[in-house]
Parts: sequence; C-alpha cells; structure tokens
Amino acid sequence: MRAAVMHETGKPLVIEELDVESPHAGEVVVRLAASGVCRSDLHVIEGESPVATPPMVLGHEGAGLVEEVGEGVRGVSVGDAVVVALYGPCGSCDDCRSGDITNCWSETRTHNMYGRMADGTTRLSLDGAVITPMVGSGSLAELSVVRESQLVKIDRDIPLDLACLAGCGVTTGIGAALNIAQVKPGATVAVIGCGGVGLNVVQGARIAGAARIIACDTQAVKLDLASDLGATECLHVSQGTELAPAIRELAPGGVDYAFEVIGSTEVLAQAFEATRPGGTTVMVGAPPPSATITIASRTLFSDRRLLGCLGGQNIPARDIPRIMRLYQQGALNLEKLVSQKLPLERVNEAFAALQDGELARSVVEP
Ligand SMILES: [Zn+2]
Ligand SMILES: [Zn+2]
Repeated sequence: MRAAVMHETGKPLVIEELDVESPHAGEVVVRLAASGVCRSDLHVIEGESPVATPPMVLGHEGAGLVEEVGEGVRGVSVGDAVVVALYGPCGSCDDCRSGDITNCWSETRTHNMYGRMADGTTRLSLDGAVITPMVGSGSLAELSVVRESQLVKIDRDIPLDLACLAGCGVTTGIGAALNIAQVKPGATVAVIGCGGVGLNVVQGARIAGAARIIACDTQAVKLDLASDLGATECLHVSQGTELAPAIRELAPGGVDYAFEVIGSTEVLAQAFEATRPGGTTVMVGAPPPSATITIASRTLFSDRRLLGCLGGQNIPARDIPRIMRLYQQGALNLEKLVSQKLPLERVNEAFAALQDGELARSVVEP
C-alpha cells in the first residue's frame, strides 16, 4: 500500500509502497478515505516533536472503512465507517478504569504514542525495515493497522472527508473549550490563532454559549472564517503587536477565558495577561518541549488559572460521537474547515500551505 513516509526530519515526505502485515488479535485494518494535515505533523517534519521516530508514516487525523479485523475484535465489523482517534488507551490501568484515559501512561499507551503496538512492534515495513505510523495512526496512507481501542464507529452517511477532522483538530479545539476550560454561558473569550484547531475553539466557545468571542490572527482570511464560525469580534494583529493591551482595549478588565492556539510561549504569556482576575488561560498550542513560560508573578495573585491541554482532554468514545451529533444537528460546521483536498502524491503541498499559514485544513484523500 502507498503511504507518505518521512525518512528523516527536515526533508519532504516520500510516497512509498509499504508491506502491511495482517492484523493481530484486537487489531483492525482501516482503508483510509481521508486524512487531515495537522500542525503536529509539521512539528514532526521540523524535528520539533517528541513523537518523531523516522522512518515513519505521518498523519493522525484519518477516517475510512474497516477492511479487515483481527481475532477477538467485537466493536467494529468489515465495512463500518470509523474515525481513527488521536490515541488508543490501554483500557485496563487505574487511570483508564476511572475514566481518566487521557492520563493513561501505561506501557501500551507509551508504545502507541511512538507508533508501536502493545508488544512494541509495528505492522508496516519497507524492504524489511520497520516503519512506524505516527501515534499509532499514520493516516497519510491507504491503510492503517490500529488497535480496536483507537477506533470510533460513526454513521455511514457522514462524509469521511469531514469526519476525519474529528481525529485531532476538532476534538482538540472543541475539547479545549468544553472539557478543559468548561466555558460558561455569557462568558467573554479570546482565541489567539485561528487555524484548524483555533477555529474549533471558536466553535466550542459558541456551542458553550459564550457571549463574546474575540478571534485574533495575523491572517485576514482566517479571521473571516472565525467570524463565519462564531467569533463576535476580530483582532487583526501583526507580528509585533502587544496582544494583551489590544485584547484589553476590546474587553476592559480582561477576558474570562484566553486560548493560545499557536504554540508560542511569548503569546501564551500575553494570553495570560489578557485574562481578568479569576480568568482561565489554556495552552492549546504546543511550544517546543524545552521552552519555558515566563509570567509576571503579580498576575497570579488573583486566582487566575493556566491550564495545559493534550488533545482537548478528549475521550474518543464519548467525544467523537458527540462531535458527529453536533455536526448532524447543524451546531458544528465542518465544511468550512476544509480549505483544499489533495491526492496523496501531493501531500507536500499541504505542508507548504500549512507553513504559509493561510489555510484552515488541507485534507488528503489517499
Ligand atoms: Zn493534530
Ligand atoms: Zn490505561
């Protein structure tokens, strides 16, 4: 099967013909119909991601149809439509059994994070050499072999080129607003960075009933999208703009919630400064792992909260069906998130577009 492989960081992906092993017990082969291209994929290419384990198949935002199931798989059958979730919890550790599956760091989950099955192996190879799928998904490919726990079945009538976005961008953005910040009705919210994830923070804040949603970005085209998806005000910023004073000019006293969705520690500090006493800031973007956040100590003497966010604290089996229901009811717009669709062989164009920063999401159709 064909897949977009990163042989080394900093280099374009190469479309390779990989060998795929049959699924072992508890594993499922998915024929991917669509995969979103996320900033985390770009972080891997740029060598700034801890999950980079080249040679690897990139992609972690896929949807498709079940092609084959291994022994003991009960939850999905051949022909079912599925979304490949961002992670596959082990299901048996104390965290999983208490429902706190995002904090499952069992050996199984750790292997999953680095693209390996529970036994530390992978099902993909190239001329006999092991290939790892990114976070166990590797969705920029024709096929993905995943553990059943990483799949969520969806209605067959939901277009797969939209459903794939629930793998990462939509669940992360919606989850940041609903699960992590728990935005309250009537609140004032600032969303800094309106790409594929930030636009979903905007949608999540709107669904939560926020009264004011201030979208901030350097690109007018993204602010237009943010307006369409629920932002009530737009702040067009340039590189040197001091964000906190600019936001406070619109919301004197500060905002109730600020979301940093870029991955810059400087912007995160500005987001924190923009909140009112008692306000909440969520770091949704992923700064380089070694980066340090500097915030003025005086701003903490006011019950402000700074929260982390890993995948929007989403529980795939709960949150992906919720996202699909919101889409079916018309409360969540997925169509506007897709800026362009490309065949697998043009995958590097999707990364170039992501670097230019003018698109919400590129979707690759393997
Ligand atoms: Zn992602
Ligand atoms: Zn677990």
